[in-house]
Formats: sequence, C-alpha cells, structure tokens
Amino acid sequence: METTNSLDVLRQLQTLDAQLYRLRREKQQKPVELEQVKSEVASQEAESKSVESKFKDLQLAQKEDELDLESREANIRKLQSQLFQLKTNKEYTAMQHEIDSLKADKSLLEEAILRRFDATDQVAKERQLQTQRLTAAQQKLEKERVRLNQELELLNQKIAEIEEQRKTLTPAIQPELLTIYEKILVLRDGLALVPLLQDSCGGCHRRMPPQVVNEVFLKTKVVMCESCNRILYFDEAHSKL
Ligand SMILES: [Zn+2]
Repeated sequence: METTNSLDVLRQLQTLDAQLYRLRREKQQKPVELEQVKSEVASQEAESKSVESKFKDLQLAQKEDELDLESREANIRKLQSQLFQLKTNKEYTAMQHEIDSLKADKSLLEEAILRRFDATDQVAKERQLQTQRLTAAQQKLEKERVRLNQELELLNQKIAEIEEQRKTLTPAIQPELLTIYEKILVLRDGLALVPLLQDSCGGCHRRMPPQVVNEVFLKTKVVMCESCNRILYFDEAHSKL
C-alpha cells in the first residue's frame, strides 16, 4: 500500500467524514429545537394557570357578594315588618332611618357587584383566549415532534449510508495512517486532511517552510502541519508548484 494511493483515498474519506460531522451536528441540534417549542408550551401553561386562578377568585368573591346582598335584603325586610308594630313616632322615625341607611349600603354593594361582573366578564374572555393560545402551542409542539422525528429518521438514514460508503474506503488506506487521521478527525472536529493553499496550511493557514511544501508535493510520506497537526495534501488547483 503506497502513501500516494492512501492519501488519494483519504481525500475521499475526508469528504465523507465532513458530511458525517455536519449531519451529526444537525442531529444534535434537533432536540434543542424541540426544547424551544416545549418551553413555549410551558409558559402558556403557566399563563393559563394564572388566568384560571384569577377567574376562580373573582367567581368566589361574586358568590360572597351575592350572599352578603341576600342577608342585607333579609335584614331590611325584617325591619320593615317590625316597622308597623312600633308604638311611638320617635321609634318609627329611628327605624325608618336605619332602614334607609341599610338600603344605601345595599345599593353601594349592588354597584360593586356590577363592577365585579364586568371584571369577571373580562377575565372570562381572557381565559377563553388563553385556552386557545395554549391549545395552539400544544398543537404546534405535536407537529414539531412529528417533523423533528421525520427529520431525525432522514438524518439517521443518510448517516448510515455514508458510514457504509466509508467502510468501502478504509481498507485501501494504510492502517497506521488511518489511525492518525481518525485521531486528528476527532481533535479537529471533522477536518483532519487539508490541501496546501499556495504554501499555507488549508486548515490553520500557517505558512509552511519550503521543505514541507516540497514533501507534500512529492507525496512519498505523510506530512502534517506543524501548527495544527492536520495532514496536508497537494492539490494542483490550490498550489503554485
Ligand atoms: Zn495547519
């Protein structure tokens, strides 16, 4: 197995590995996308809970007001029935005053009840809108889940295909070169083999000494960039030699 041939196959391998790294990154990103939609649903749920409790509080207060009103009305009726059993004008006038004052309180309470009706109405509308917003967010999450699962499945298929192609290439590469390449691949996040660009490394752009450039050109041994440790190859399209 010659270094020249190995390097040529390695270039094909690097093309596949670059695709693999890109696809794997895309795959890692998918759950992150779903988390964003999930947090949207969570915030709508929190909002719904808050509107719901506001609505319940208002309903409870309304019920209390109504009971209060009933007891005041009963009190007024009771005093009015007693009015005609009174013996003196003085007593009659005093009780009439008391009844008038109770009636005034009652009408204040009635106004408050009407105001609370309006507030309850408002919150009821808000509650309905919030329910719609929550449902929409939940439906969006379901759709996103389906979409992301489909995309993940597609990504897995593509990754499996490229991994299969990769297996057909690796036997044609010198084992020790393949080992070095794969180590660099991991360290350099998917880019282990780079062309010389003029006389600079295609990975880190550091200028290479003439001797290194010459060695890369000759392809007789594996040459690595002294700076980023990537394996260098000679490519006519990029070189001035
Ligand atoms: Zn470099």
